[in-house]
Parts: sequence; structure tokens; C-alpha cells
Amino acid sequence: MSIYISGIGVSKGIAIGEAFVLEREKVDATQRTLPASEIKSEIKRFIAAMKLANNQLHDIKKKIAKNTADDILVFIDTHLLMLEDPAFNEGTISNIKKFSCNAEWALMMQSERLVQVFDEMEDPYLRTRKDDVLHVVKRIQTALSGKKDVHNGVSYKGKIIVADDLTPADTIMMQHQKVAGFITEYGGPLSHTAILARNLGIPAIVGLHHARQLIHRDENIVIDGFTGVVINSPDKKSLKYYRAVRRDDIAKRNLLNELSGKPAVTLDNEQITLHGNIDRPSDIRAIKKYDHTGVGLYRTEMLFIELNQWPDQQTHFKNYKRAVKALEGKPLTIRTMDLGADKEIQETMDHGPMAHNPAMGLRAIRRCLKEPQDFMPQLLAILRASAYGPVRIMIPMLTNTEELDQVFALIEDAKQILKKKRIAFDNKIPVGAMIEVPAAALAADAFARKLDFLSIGTNDLIQYTLAIDRIDDEVNYLFNPLNCAVLKLIQMTIDAGKKANIPVSMCGEMASDTLYTRLLLGMGLKYFSVQANALLEVKHIIVNSTLKNLQPEVEEIMKMHDDAEIKSRVQQLVNLL
Ligand code: PEP
Ligand code: MG
Repeated sequence: MSIYISGIGVSKGIAIGEAFVLEREKVDATQRTLPASEIKSEIKRFIAAMKLANNQLHDIKKKIAKNTADDILVFIDTHLLMLEDPAFNEGTISNIKKFSCNAEWALMMQSERLVQVFDEMEDPYLRTRKDDVLHVVKRIQTALSGKKDVHNGVSYKGKIIVADDLTPADTIMMQHQKVAGFITEYGGPLSHTAILARNLGIPAIVGLHHARQLIHRDENIVIDGFTGVVINSPDKKSLKYYRAVRRDDIAKRNLLNELSGKPAVTLDNEQITLHGNIDRPSDIRAIKKYDHTGVGLYRTEMLFIELNQWPDQQTHFKNYKRAVKALEGKPLTIRTMDLGADKEIQETMDHGPMAHNPAMGLRAIRRCLKEPQDFMPQLLAILRASAYGPVRIMIPMLTNTEELDQVFALIEDAKQILKKKRIAFDNKIPVGAMIEVPAAALAADAFARKLDFLSIGTNDLIQYTLAIDRIDDEVNYLFNPLNCAVLKLIQMTIDAGKKANIPVSMCGEMASDTLYTRLLLGMGLKYFSVQANALLEVKHIIVNSTLKNLQPEVEEIMKMHDDAEIKSRVQQLVNLL
């Protein structure tokens, strides 16, 4: 009889195969006190283990380097960098000396300190990076114990791996051996296994607690990466069903790949612009993997968060120039920094004033206008980068047009500085605004008259319209892009752009979800900026839609007020395909 268990589906697709339950031997890190005469040799033993861990990672890199994309190798490089970081080696060595203790315990103490730093981070992506610390520590501990690497001589071909957790190196090694899928007991959608599995296109489920007790080695299982369901010992009927789903999925992916590089034109010949969202220049590789297109949102605050301080002009410039060059002539929309709320840097957390309600506080452009000396280097760097290719400036979180006038004045100051120094830039650089505060959507006409483009940030627009903190799980059930008030604000913004004859884009998550593509097309949206892995899915809907058929349907939806009714009508639009 089939048994269904479920976790979190983080990488779409169906895998059918035998389970390979990965059991790791526990390492003993209990404290041992050493006599003074053994401290030196203990430090040597620790350094040797670090070297061994380093060699293992280099070996893995060598083995897989030929047919592995750079953006995947980066995960192993991160671990190599950690192994060289003084936070690991000097901290542990100082613990060995201070407590006259064994290396295992000294390393464990040090890793607990490092993990705590990550645990306290607000940003959910950075918080999950503590996994990197734990993975590196595990590798060093194994090296200290003298045990062999768990993968030595093992074949994973066609298997579904069931593990407590997987390191990036595990994941990449297994993919290299053509593993069919992954199940882990820990981790969430932002864990490395999840990100890598998505990049590698392997179905994966994470957060399936006790998976290693529920699933046995060599048992036949099915994993459904769409829903997060695992079917243990599937019967004939379920197998038949999932084989058919897998076949359709593979056919769909092949079809999607054929859309790469093709224009996003509707069946009635309307040209739609489809761009990608990035957090850092290296993300452009992922965009190019799917479709060589421009960037509609570059979230530059990631640069601040990763450096944990305000970058100088040169650091900004280096990053922006890298992004412009990587895009090879396609447009780059650089959003000025949106620090604050859930994106904060340690410096201000330590010293700055903490708002009671940071999402409503000194965030994004408000903060830049309050501290123009910190904002100016970014503006100068964006202008300088515009000499190397098409660049647009995008301002987040505007509430009124007075703020916009202040931004224009600062941009003008920056231009004058560069002119005086005879530094090249695009004097006609387009300036646009994110419409993500309801006040700005309601006054979109006024913004549109002053700007070159608008871009709707639905993540915040929904948060502020519905008064729900977008990162608060307790009220997440209220987060609804299809709420009629949200739809009205989106419509007003699109109409304002049309009236002023300027492009209106959408770069919030709503644009990446194919459930909404036809609704948005019917509302008149012509520019979408989406996550890299949604580029082809959204394009697929666009090229199979007829705008003039959608418009009357959407006009009716716009008259509705009931959430459930709206959802069902929007779903019907999708099913028209
Ligand atoms: C948005 O609010 O929709 C948006 C794209 O910006 P961010 O998610 O970075 O706040
Ligand atoms: Mg936003």
C-alpha cells in the first residue's frame, strides 16, 4: 500500500527511484583537557584537519569543474573561503590554548559563536547561511576523527537521496553522478540544497522531519517536488499516475527551453518586455541560462548587507560596471538601496535608532534622503556605470513627489560633479520609481508626469495596502495579490503610465507567478521583471495569450469584490490555455 508523507517541495519535478538513506557517523566533540605539553601538537592536528578538508573540497572541484556552471561552483568556493577565514582557524586555535582542550571541542565552541551571529540576522537568506558554517565544521570534524569522507566509492546513479542535511559539495557530487532526487530532514526553501537543486533542475523536498526513519534504504519511492509529497512503496496506480506527470513535466520543460531567446509576443502580436530580477551581478548568469534579457530590478542593498557597511563609490561602481558588462547591451535597472525593515545592516542595528515599526520607518529612499552623504556615492557610481551600457535608475518607496524632487536635485548634483571631473556618463539616464506605497499608486499620475518609467513593487504594495507585515508568518494568510483593493491600485498605476506614455513594469513576486500573468496582461501590463527561473514559464503564458480576448474578461474581474470569486475567475483565465 502506498504511504504518503510530506515536506516542503523546493525544486519542481517528479523523481521515481530507490531510496539511498545517507547515514553519517557521529563525531565525538566532548571536551578533553590536555596537559600543556600536548597543546602544540593538538594545534598541529587541527591545522592538518583544516588542510585535509581544504584538499577534499579542491578535489571535488577538480572532479566536477568541466561540466559544472560557475554559479554552482561558487557554493564550493564559499566553503573554501570559510576554511581560510581567521574566524574559523584563529578562533579555534585560541580556544585550544585558552581552555587547554581538544581541537574538536574548541572548534565546536567557535562554531556555536559563529552560528549565533547568523541566527540573529533579520534577513532570512543570510540567516540560512549558518548552514555553511555547520557544513564546514562537519567536514573539519570528520577530518579530525580520521574517518573517511561518506561518499568514498559510493554510486548514487538514479537514486533518491534521503539525508539529514546536505552540503553544497554533497549536492553537487551527487548530481555529478546523476542522482534522481533529494529529500532532507532539515532546511527550508532558501537552504543551499534547495537553491542548488533548483539550479541543477533536480526534484527536491526539504524539511521532511524523521525522513530517515520513515524511508528505508532501497525502498521504491516517488518524490513530487511540486507539492512536497513523498510516496513510499507506491502501488501500480500511483506509479502510473506519477510516470505520466513526469512525462508531461519533461515535455513541458523541453517546450519551455525552446522559448529561450524568442520574443515575448502575444498571439495578437503585442510585444511584451520580460526582464529578470537580480540581487548581485553574478545572478546575471542565471538569467542568461534561461533567456538572455535585461534586468528590471537590481536590489543593490544586498551589497550593503553582504559587506555589513556602507560601500564606497568605487565598490558600488565595480559591481554596477560588472553587471552592465555581463548584460552585453541589454538594459540594467539599478534600484537605489532599500535598506531598513527586514533588510538591515549590523552597523545600524548596533548603533542606529531602532524603529518600533521598521517597515513604516526610515527605510529606502527616506533613509537616503536623510543621509545624502551616504547616498551620493551610489548615485555617482550608477551614473559612471551608465557610460558602459544602458542603465536606468529606480527609486524605491517613494511616498510623495517632493521626495522625488529631492532625488532629482541630488542626481543633478552628481552629474555636475562628474562633468567637472570630465568623467563620462549618460546624461539622459532614465529615472523611474517603484510604486509600492498605496499613496504613490493613488498619485501615480503625478509620478508618471515627472518620470521616465514606473515599476510596481507588489511585495510592499500588498503589505502596505492590506496592513500585513510581509515577513510575519502569523498574518501571512491575509497576503493576497488578488485582493480587489490591491488590483485597483495596480490598475491605476498601469493607467497612469499609459496616459503619460511611459512604460510601467511590475517587479514584485506577483509578476513571477504564472497564475497572474494573464490577469496582468488583461489589465494592460506590458513589462514584467521576474525571477530568473520564472522567465520561460511567464513567457510561455504570454506567447499563448490573446490580449483582446483577455481584456473583457479582466474588466469583469475588476468589478468584483469577493476574494474567492476573483481567484476562481483568475484561475479560469489560466485554464484557457
Ligand atoms: C516589492 O516590494 O515588490 C519589491 C520588488 O521590492 P522588495 O521585495 O525588494 O522590497
Ligand atoms: Mg519593495
